[in-house]
Amino acid sequence: MRALTIAPGQKNSIQLEERPDPQPAPDCALVEAVALGVCGTDMEIIHGDYGWAPAGEPRLILGHESLGRVLEAPSGAGIATGDLVVGIVRRPDPAPCPACAAGEWDMCRNGRYTERGIKERHGYGAERWLIEPEFAIKVDTGLGLLGVLLEPTSVVAKAWDHIERIGARTRSWRPDRVLITGGGPVGLLAAMIARQKGLETHVFDRNETGPKPGLIADLGATRHGGDIASLKDLAPTVVIECTGADEVVLGVMSQMSGDAIVCLAGVSSGGRKVDFDVGSFNRTAVLSNDVVFGSVNANRAHYQAAADALAKADPAWLARLITRRVPLDRWREAFERRDDDVKVVVDFGRL
Ligand code: BGC
Repeated sequence: MRALTIAPGQKNSIQLEERPDPQPAPDCALVEAVALGVCGTDMEIIHGDYGWAPAGEPRLILGHESLGRVLEAPSGAGIATGDLVVGIVRRPDPAPCPACAAGEWDMCRNGRYTERGIKERHGYGAERWLIEPEFAIKVDTGLGLLGVLLEPTSVVAKAWDHIERIGARTRSWRPDRVLITGGGPVGLLAAMIARQKGLETHVFDRNETGPKPGLIADLGATRHGGDIASLKDLAPTVVIECTGADEVVLGVMSQMSGDAIVCLAGVSSGGRKVDFDVGSFNRTAVLSNDVVFGSVNANRAHYQAAADALAKADPAWLARLITRRVPLDRWREAFERRDDDVKVVVDFGRL
């Protein structure tokens, strides 16, 4: 089979190489790849800034946003031949820590978790892969290729789950106005869930052309561009920061309104220093009971919540998120950034 592999830590080492087919294992399903989504994490791994190969191996099979069709599955596995499935990214740490032991590997406390296509475990960027049925999520066949959006949706489903749990510390908490920063796939999916919850939704995104303004408007959300400081009077009760850009992170933390919950969901690269008025941030946060928290990854319940959110969404809108489908033969194009990209997928030609 062909697989997309990289040597972690080595810039631009990505290649499509021939690898032996996975050996069927009695407790695993064998899956043929249908599509693979490309995200910022993959680009970081390709640039050599992130990612780890499995112990004792020089290269990692890339890819964590999967969609595949089951070829063979153990009986009673809950998935069967022909089903469309998405593989969960993270696996619990071997200890396991209390969070992993409770199935909440997204909250792993010792950092020894593994992630397919990212950390010490081969990913889904291969023509065939094996999956333990308890780490496979069945996708409605009607969703077709759009099922590849399940993994990024699971990440925002987790963010929303935690926002609501934090909000519930106050019996009277009712979110009303939401600000999402970043109009990439994660930001747009976070906004989609906000709209499904009936919330007034604002998206900060600087793109004035291309597909993003239309995607935001068609959700019934309002787009804001320019400088994040121009939003200081918006007073959102919930902020989901999806850019990881220093000035945007700083902007949302410096202009929190009373009782705000700010979820940081975009990973920054680090290394740049900016001026930040810690005292003023602290004063506002304390006097208004504000919360700033980070959110990463997703557990099985979040994948299920994400599947529900995708089932409720307008398929025509979801289809517009996938701006390029690149056949595996032309895989290099999938890792080029183009101006009008939202979500780019590698298409394995099976749908
Ligand atoms: C993935 C997450 C993962 C995170 C950190 C993201 O791109 O969607 O599943 O936990 O990267 O590795």
